[in-house]
Amino acid sequence: MANRQPIVAGNWKMNGSQAESAALLTGLKKGLGTVNKAKIVVCPPFILVPLAAKELAGTTAAWGGQNLDTHKSGAFTGEVSGPMLKDFGCSYVIIGHSERRTLFGETDAMVAEKFKAAQDAGLIPILCVGETLSEREANQTEAVVARQLDAVVNTLGIAALANSVVAYEPVWAIGTGKTASPQQAQDVHRFIRGRLAAKDAKVADGMRILYGGSMKAANAKELIGQPDIDGGLIGGASLVADEFLAICRAAD
Ligand code: PEP
Repeated sequence: MANRQPIVAGNWKMNGSQAESAALLTGLKKGLGTVNKAKIVVCPPFILVPLAAKELAGTTAAWGGQNLDTHKSGAFTGEVSGPMLKDFGCSYVIIGHSERRTLFGETDAMVAEKFKAAQDAGLIPILCVGETLSEREANQTEAVVARQLDAVVNTLGIAALANSVVAYEPVWAIGTGKTASPQQAQDVHRFIRGRLAAKDAKVADGMRILYGGSMKAANAKELIGQPDIDGGLIGGASLVADEFLAICRAAD
């Protein structure tokens, strides 16, 4: 089995003033030395990306966007492109977060296009997949995750997945305080890896599959301890430096 470096990515969502964000980044920077193995990624709102870039430059932490437009530039009012994120030193970008899918109407096809735009700009996509509560209750979890994954794999080819990250985020666990049990999460992570392996065993073996959904310091170790869970995508708990750092250490 590949020795996969864990990743812990913070999704700040639409949170943070300049002062709050500067304080959070200062707190993070202070604790970076306590994290040994995990790759730390911070994804602030677009307007705070330059601040993250300034504060995190030269550290072990990376930063990224929460979304991007598929075009490189032009008359797309309100949008931000992959090359613009890259210009501000971003290495990663979250693609297809459930909030983008449900609140902003992103379809599987759009997610695949965004995935490609990210890679074209030299960014590593963090592709989010996951089922709603009603889909889980209808035993549709695997079908939904497969559909979301296949939309990218079948459009771009399995080779495109080689330099990417997948985040399994059950929608019912995001921001709700309800976490998937380690076994529930592991079952879906194993399913995702297996589905990728059917196309390319090497890509599947190297894929970092993060869990997201109310992960916090208190439950991180048990979740990330599962064989197919390679880190976390963290919302609420990424807004508190010590809590986020504790999750990063749990991933070590
Ligand atoms: C997320 O939005 O990606 C997320 C996992 O949020 P939370 O940790 O707050 O559930």
